[in-house]
Amino acid sequence: MNDKSCRVCATDKPLELFQKDPRTKSGYAGRCLSCASIYKRRHYEANREHVLAVNRAWRVSHPEAGIVIQKRYYEAHPERRAEASRAWKERNIDRCKASRAIHREKNKVATKVARQKRESENKEKYARLRLEYKLANPEAWRASQEKHRLANLDRFAAKEQLRRAKKINATPAWLTPTQKAEMLGFYTESRAVTEQTGVEHEVDHIVPLRGRLVCGLHVPWNLRVITKTENASKGNRFSPEISPIALQLSA
Ligand SMILES: [Zn+2]
Repeated sequence: MNDKSCRVCATDKPLELFQKDPRTKSGYAGRCLSCASIYKRRHYEANREHVLAVNRAWRVSHPEAGIVIQKRYYEAHPERRAEASRAWKERNIDRCKASRAIHREKNKVATKVARQKRESENKEKYARLRLEYKLANPEAWRASQEKHRLANLDRFAAKEQLRRAKKINATPAWLTPTQKAEMLGFYTESRAVTEQTGVEHEVDHIVPLRGRLVCGLHVPWNLRVITKTENASKGNRFSPEISPIALQLSA
């Protein structure tokens, strides 16, 4: 007594082939599953707008169920997930931008730390990217440099001041005009090499003017032209194995 007769196709079928329906006396729908499926399809085709509206209204009033259904759908069709997400992003570009901005603002410190870590681990790569950007967008580059300078006027001034003070303290009074001209030559060379190669070069003090162990002098034999990247990665480090030229003992 586990069979039931379908009222549409009039076939006897096991109860599992009928949808449960608590509103009926038997507890099962009158149509078998395959007849119900045909009926639903026909009904949908004949009343598409109405069915879609009812479904939409149902989803709105059952948000959690909607999520479960969507999850089940994407589990069954994993390949559609990326596609759907891409399409959604395309339709909601502004929303995506806004939410990224909010996320960045909320995670400002973490984002900055992560970026600094990434950059310090790939110094050459980021120097190259910056240079490429600079060459491709000279106007935007200048504007952003200027914006950064204006936002950090005090820091720039302090840095420049410190640089001058160091140079003055480290510049011996006994330098001859020839030696001074020789030193200017390094700065001229660094500008020229920068322009010729497109790679930023700087005049470096072989023994840093404010080293940890020793302080170098601002004299011709302590100067050399190196790339800005090399200079930045060198910092104030100095290995005493380098020939002990231009040394002035640290105070
Ligand atoms: Zn049937």
